[in-house]
Amino acid sequence: MPETENRTTLTPDTPVQYLKGVGPKLAQRFEKLGIRTLADLLQHYPRRYLDFTHPYPPAEAPVGVECVVRAQLLAKQGGRYAAGGRRVEKATAGDDVATLELTWFNNPYTIQKLEIGQEYYFQGVVAGGLLRRQMVNPQVRTAAQVSAVPLIPVYPQTDGLNSGAIGRCVAQLLPHAELLGDPLPPALLQKYRLPSKAQAVRDIHTPATPQAAQEARRRLIFEELLVLQLGMGLLKNRGSASTGAPMRRADPAPFWASLPFAPTGAQRRAVDQILEDMAGPRSMNRLLQGDVGSGKTLVAAAALWAAVGAGYQGALLAPTELLAQQHAETLNRLLAPFGIRVALLTGGLKAAARRTTLAAIRAGEADLVVGTHAILSEGVEFARLGLAVIDEQHRFGVRQRGALAEKGASPHLLVMSATPIPRTLGLLIYGDLDISILDELPPGRTPVKTRVMGGARRRDLYGFLDREIGAGRQVYIVCPAIEEGPDGGLAPVKTYYEQTAKALLPDRRVGLMHGKLKPKEKAAVMEDFRAGRLDALVSTTVIEVGVDVPNATVMVIENAERYGLSALHQLRGRVGRGAAESWCFLVSDNTAPAVQNRLRFLCSTTDGFAVAQYDLETRGPGDFFGSRQHGLPTLQIADLAANTRPLHAAQSEAAAILSADPLLDQPQHRLLADQVARMFDRAGPMN
Ligand code: ADP
Ligand code: MG
Repeated sequence: MPETENRTTLTPDTPVQYLKGVGPKLAQRFEKLGIRTLADLLQHYPRRYLDFTHPYPPAEAPVGVECVVRAQLLAKQGGRYAAGGRRVEKATAGDDVATLELTWFNNPYTIQKLEIGQEYYFQGVVAGGLLRRQMVNPQVRTAAQVSAVPLIPVYPQTDGLNSGAIGRCVAQLLPHAELLGDPLPPALLQKYRLPSKAQAVRDIHTPATPQAAQEARRRLIFEELLVLQLGMGLLKNRGSASTGAPMRRADPAPFWASLPFAPTGAQRRAVDQILEDMAGPRSMNRLLQGDVGSGKTLVAAAALWAAVGAGYQGALLAPTELLAQQHAETLNRLLAPFGIRVALLTGGLKAAARRTTLAAIRAGEADLVVGTHAILSEGVEFARLGLAVIDEQHRFGVRQRGALAEKGASPHLLVMSATPIPRTLGLLIYGDLDISILDELPPGRTPVKTRVMGGARRRDLYGFLDREIGAGRQVYIVCPAIEEGPDGGLAPVKTYYEQTAKALLPDRRVGLMHGKLKPKEKAAVMEDFRAGRLDALVSTTVIEVGVDVPNATVMVIENAERYGLSALHQLRGRVGRGAAESWCFLVSDNTAPAVQNRLRFLCSTTDGFAVAQYDLETRGPGDFFGSRQHGLPTLQIADLAANTRPLHAAQSEAAAILSADPLLDQPQHRLLADQVARMFDRAGPMN
């Protein structure tokens, strides 16, 4: 990278464009992978390696999996054009025992460079029987290349930026690995016998041996978990302030009396715990956990009612515009009779409306503010925020919790989640929170009947939908997002809407909802559905959280195999909200036993805790630890379920560091504090 160095001194924050061969276009692709700076790139770790250290002889290579075969090149058959215009190159390699037939498509260059009689390493998937082994489009390397780089890193890649290209950029940068500095205190490196940061970064990208890669991984996992624990610890230290919203213990009786139905016992208990907390000397920090449909919104309403009654303002933060809108309507319906004024604040608001709303919030004329993360933006000032509620908290980063609390002088905080969390992990994520659980559904619900079916029966299914609609019910049909369209033969939501849903329900009013619609359009579609002006709603998973339309009784989920069980359970929770019998159909053409078993499991239970437990044990796609389900920052390399030992070590080391340096602002911890900021800044809201 000599020319770069002449122009500028490299820092961890230098943009990737400074690398040779990286222009604005490539930089954009890097950005897709979350890589903006040199530090980001150095810390974009490979997922796995192509291991050339243990090549197979042709006869012993396993069939059907990726492997490396070492063999002599015996003959080149030359190239030709196959039907369809594809260029085909063929060659034969082998040893005394067996041969391997090699084929390349549209790649005449590789074979040109190969010499007959030379030994090579061929990497790819072996097909065929013992007598006729084949490999298509293998990567070829010489012995010299292999001894220089025995393990080739495989990186998470994106369109127009493949693993190889990423590897070349990383290789350019590795001589500068010291740029990153070492956030781990020397004492910890010694205690756990960990390599330095620069060493670990070099070894994880270009390990000399599998052991070196392993050691590098161990060090980087420990670092990541320590940073995570420090971040959680800092949040906790901040949360234990004495309250800025003291109030007397409210009596919820008038609120309960105003409802058209009786609260469940669980709702009463949760509200009592909350009112008790809010009357205490410290700010409330409470998690309300309850399965979908358990009635968390009502508990939030009771708490907000009490806060306003005590003279404070309240805020309710929702992860989507759709949900914010719905909550504003619900709270307005429940609380307007008490003279409580509810304002809606979302990103979709026009400038003038936004100004008026902001002024009302600042002047204390709005008692409750319901909104998306727009509430967290600068310029939103409360006159006297006393209680902040976060709905579907797992959809937000942990950082948002802190940000909302900072909008007032230590207000009370209530976070709500439908994602059940195994206890050990709960302590880690919510160590700073008290927990209330809604373990009782409102009366009169019948459990949703769940069925798995293949796409071949779609016509019958639509016949059923048509009959339900005829009986006055409404239905949801969920299918994959637009972006996921072209590959894998999945019908993107728009095509599906036009060619399947509308075609099979010709006499019904079918609406379309997806993430690319403007907030206004989304709200309009949802309003049409809620008001019964639409019979069926074809949607992406944007309706996964919170949407509440009791008249909807059928949930169809296309390509159900693509979603984690917890997500499917959330989607299913959109129906079964009234007394009528409700159905959930999981449509999938994937007949793999693992997939079918996973989907069938959902048919056997409607208990969210059981679903989470199964997810945890089977580690399906989008599972509990795989993504987004818990609101923790995204981890690059550590795995909370698998790395429990380093997790415990990191937990106790973080506690030790914070007890000596509670705000992590001593100079020897500067790099650690930087890493914490980096990790938690990324944990932004998802929508
Ligand atoms: P979630 O816990 O999933 O957020 P909601 O708050 O959306 O659940 O409530 C689900 C539905 O149950 C709503 O239609 C709500 O009006 C209704 N509901 C809540 N509490 C009760 C109750 N005690 N009795 C009857 N219906 C209730
Ligand atoms: Mg809800």
